[in-house]
Amino acid sequence: FTDWLAELHRVAAAVMAKSPEVKLAVFGRAGVGKSALVVRFLTRRFIWEYDPTLESTYRHQANIDDEVVTMEILDTAGQEDIQQKEGHMRWGDGFIIVYDITDRGSFEEVAPLRSLLEEVKRPKNVPLVLVGNKSDLDHVRQVGTEEGERLAAEMACAFYECSACADEGGAVAEAFHELCREVRRR
Ligand code: GDP
Ligand code: MG
Repeated sequence: FTDWLAELHRVAAAVMAKSPEVKLAVFGRAGVGKSALVVRFLTRRFIWEYDPTLESTYRHQANIDDEVVTMEILDTAGQEDIQQKEGHMRWGDGFIIVYDITDRGSFEEVAPLRSLLEEVKRPKNVPLVLVGNKSDLDHVRQVGTEEGERLAAEMACAFYECSACADEGGAVAEAFHELCREVRRR
């Protein structure tokens, strides 16, 4: 049994060493639900209140298209100064920009974030996914689904409307997985 366990450890270590690693950073105005989305993705649970000033990184492994991918996920606070933002952008391989469908101001912050990303990563082309969060709050919506789609088309990236608190159909995980694929394609 001990031999078998040692062998298992050896194989696991080899798989870990070979498994590709992608660094993902989540951006967007404070309050759009970045932390809630990351926590939903990692735990399949929703946590109502999360320290808004907190910045954290998480490691997560997932099987995407029959490949084990190790993700490092940076949940930014959304109130960083420009130097801190640029630092996070240099660090990341792929990016999720989140806005809140009930907060037009958060939608208007998407394009400037994208421009800064392009500038920091130039001449590289930036793997990106756009997420409109809080789709459960449709009755107080300020940003139409088509507006999100149009912006994503302009930025040539995938677009998901989702809800960290009522994630039917797993759109949250799909957004993270699609970003990993996008990073791996480059
Ligand atoms: P962050 O500052 O972008 O990290 O935002 P948080 O994850 O801290 O969320 C800000 C607030 O929005 C919290 O009160 C959350 O409970 C709430 N929230 C986050 N995601 C959703 C969602 O999908 N639907 C609703 N109704 N509330 C959400
Ligand atoms: Mg947060």
